[in-house]
Amino acid sequence: MAYDSDNIFAKILRGEIPCEKLYEDDDTFVFMDIMPRADGHCLVIPKTPCRNMLDASPEQLAACLKTVQIVSHACLTAFDAEGITLQQFNEPAGGQEVYHLHFHILPRHEGVKLRPPGQMADFAVLKTHADKIRAALAG
Ligand code: 5GP
Repeated sequence: MAYDSDNIFAKILRGEIPCEKLYEDDDTFVFMDIMPRADGHCLVIPKTPCRNMLDASPEQLAACLKTVQIVSHACLTAFDAEGITLQQFNEPAGGQEVYHLHFHILPRHEGVKLRPPGQMADFAVLKTHADKIRAALAG
């Protein structure tokens, strides 16, 4: 399947759609998921195009995972979390809905289940959560 440059995350990268940006470097970009399944649920994407893990280059995957580790540590600090769930879906049968490679970072606490998918965030709350992660990244 070909990469579609009109996907939502490509539009976020081009600044055509707003997001709660958390972090960027030369190769990756990180922002809050608007339907968070846990407080601090955020997404790591490469700045260059690929649909998912299956067509990504080794360099894109390596850059994303490096950023996943940096932001995961910030999430642990920001939410006093005890663990991180990392999710990554490939193609419709694999549960993927947006076709630009992304890794979900989900801060976890013992015994607390993920919320169901598809629940839109309160944007004021999302911003306070983003502020916590940005502060942890800065500190
Ligand atoms: P997946 O493709 O891995 O199934 O999930 C796509 C994720 O993107 C979902 O968790 C969904 O909440 C998130 N999402 C969909 N549209 C937007 C958007 O416009 N902005 C942000 N920040 N996240 C989005």
